[in-house]
Amino acid sequence: MHPNIVTLNSKFRPGPTIRIDDPALPHGTDLWIKREDLLHPVISGNKWRKLKYILDHALKLGYRNIISMGGAYSNHLHALAFAGRELGLATTGIIRGERPEQPNTTMKDLQNWGMTLHFVSRTTFRKLRECKQWDSEPGQKYRGYWIPEGGSSPLALAGITEMVNDIPIEFQTIALACGTGVTLAGTISALVSDQFALGFAVLKGAGFLEKEVENLLRTTGKSVSQPAEILLDYHFGGFAKRNQKLIRFMTDFERRNNIPLDPVYTGKLMYGLYHLINNQKLKNQRIVAIHTGGLQANRSY
Ligand SMILES: *Cc1c(COP(=O)(O)O)cnc(C)c1O
Repeated sequence: MHPNIVTLNSKFRPGPTIRIDDPALPHGTDLWIKREDLLHPVISGNKWRKLKYILDHALKLGYRNIISMGGAYSNHLHALAFAGRELGLATTGIIRGERPEQPNTTMKDLQNWGMTLHFVSRTTFRKLRECKQWDSEPGQKYRGYWIPEGGSSPLALAGITEMVNDIPIEFQTIALACGTGVTLAGTISALVSDQFALGFAVLKGAGFLEKEVENLLRTTGKSVSQPAEILLDYHFGGFAKRNQKLIRFMTDFERRNNIPLDPVYTGKLMYGLYHLINNQKLKNQRIVAIHTGGLQANRSY
């Protein structure tokens, strides 16, 4: 690993894996949560795990500018901007939509950490999504190393595998929220034979995820038939959409367990997981949910 990555990585502390002892769950439920939201005071959750080997690759190739894309509250750009500043790298963020009159709290952080922001139309943004390689066109245009949306690169998987290997207890099922599916793919590639991965899609119509995860897994040379399932019915209307039911669940969960959730990812994950457990699914097994963080975006809600 590049020495600057080693130094930055040493500032991260894998969050604890703790038992959820919640009266709202059936007696005997064996549910745990891995607090990746506690990984670092600024970069939370899975985003550093995904960026670690991507940025290592960029540094080894000698790049000094990293470019990526995301929405107005992007946890990925937030993590990238901070890591870039720590590593002494220039960063460029391409953001969907018009430049707002007042930058939101996420954008303020990006700017404070020196990220150059470009705002592009939804059409342009959609086209950029097709750029999957680090040396694809936007990298050439902005003179830097290109990271696809959400850090969706085969290089991201190894860091996620490390996250799963940091879980100090045995378990049968591991549950997590899925956006691009990279975190799920990395998780699957870390599992051993009798373990099962359960992904909760936070986007509407996320049927594409299965192929996406399969393709990513193929790049690791790992068998694609690892046991896993992606649940498509807990998106609450689409990405970043929410309703009273979700907010009430999150508020109650936080009060009982003293663990904050975000409405975009981890709220939907825990809602879905509680729904399954309370319907007698997932019985007689130890479940570990991954708290992938994302709490920075809560400031804007
Ligand atoms: C990005 C993100 C995810 C989704 O990760 P993918 O690898 O894109 O599936 C889950 N939870 C949080 C908090 C995130 O920020």
